[in-house]
Amino acid sequence: MTFKELNISDQLLSGLDAMGFEKATPIQEQAIPLILDGKDLIACAQTGTGKTAAFLLPIIDQLMGNDTKSVDALILVPTRELAVQIDQQLEGFAYFTDISSIPIYGGRDGNSFDDEKRALKLGANIVVATPGRLIAHLNMGYVKIDQLKHLILDEADRMLDMGFQNDIMKIINYLPKERQTLMFSATMPPKIRQFSKRILIKPEQISLAISKPAAGILQGAYYAEDNQKPHLIVHLLKKRKGVNERILIFSSTKANVKNIVSALKSGGLGAGEIHSDLDQKAREEMLRSFKNGSQPILVATDILSRGIDVKGIDLVVNYDVPGDAEDYIHRIGRTARADSEGVALTFINRKDRRKFSSIEYLMEQEVKKVNLPPEIPKAQAPEPSRGRSNSRNYRSGGGRGGNKNRRSNKPKRR
Ligand code: AMP
Repeated sequence: MTFKELNISDQLLSGLDAMGFEKATPIQEQAIPLILDGKDLIACAQTGTGKTAAFLLPIIDQLMGNDTKSVDALILVPTRELAVQIDQQLEGFAYFTDISSIPIYGGRDGNSFDDEKRALKLGANIVVATPGRLIAHLNMGYVKIDQLKHLILDEADRMLDMGFQNDIMKIINYLPKERQTLMFSATMPPKIRQFSKRILIKPEQISLAISKPAAGILQGAYYAEDNQKPHLIVHLLKKRKGVNERILIFSSTKANVKNIVSALKSGGLGAGEIHSDLDQKAREEMLRSFKNGSQPILVATDILSRGIDVKGIDLVVNYDVPGDAEDYIHRIGRTARADSEGVALTFINRKDRRKFSSIEYLMEQEVKKVNLPPEIPKAQAPEPSRGRSNSRNYRSGGGRGGNKNRRSNKPKRR
């Protein structure tokens, strides 16, 4: 279906044309008419499906020509990176319209707070914000938000996981009761359903392929112990050296990110890194050089796994097994976007085997295990297990059950 058939106005069509969007994706086909109709909506959609445009286009469309002096639409997101990315898409779509927008997020210098303050006082049409930073502004009393018409929660599951529920409710208290509310989430656990009942009114529902990786991703995994992983990553990347590719390596901890970067360096491979120790500016610069190809290898914590739109990643490597199936799908979802094919490889040590089996179980898909290349050194015996749960993990390998510790494995800041 074309965007014209979805009744998107001409100025927006020009923006879409300039951005090279020709046909609507399934989530756009389903969501745009409902949003234009003023309905509340709860949508289960992974990143990579085009969900951002699915809510941005109808919102911009409805706001065009409205000469208000207060914030009309608020998009709440879990991370700074996602705020920036949504705002950039918004600028592209709205290029030929009179819509103004501003991203609101922390971690930058004092001037940015003042810029945000000015935009919030003047009433930017669309505000894309992380909850904590917006609350800092709301507490100061100058945000003109009581006339708001649309509230969008993006990556709602992630926001709840990060403990933003109270902040979101606090923000909602500043908003008029009569408004359109849209909630997008990659997964739909019971807590999201309960939460949605508190803030949505008779929502329409859309669900697109829950917890399944995109079809174009070729997945593989290596059984590799921690002493083997640095050799394996250098080996794999050296083999691809010279090929003009973009490679994203994920690890759960920032300590590991730094170790991976230095392993690559000693293997003669330059790589950028991104994690919560870097300030916002450094993170943005790194992301930019990865996007424009000047730094084609990037090592990152999960800060990047959700929602971040970097086109044409050819290879995603999970240096360790992510905390749960959703994280895995988000990590590997960075490759094979739109119709391109990508490869996702995961390194599994003995401790992580059970966790990976439960991910395979949830995806209803077994990932092909690849033999380690002969040049990789032998596995060192795993550290002696300290407790019952560890010794069980060593024996597992193929268990299907869920890992009770999955959530608690997640570090708070990544
Ligand atoms: P999202 O799921 O919003 O993260 O979008 C995934 C990627 O698909 C982004 O790079 C978008 O720019 C791109 N995209 C979204 N909708 C379309 C479309 N209708 N045609 C082409 N690309 C699209």
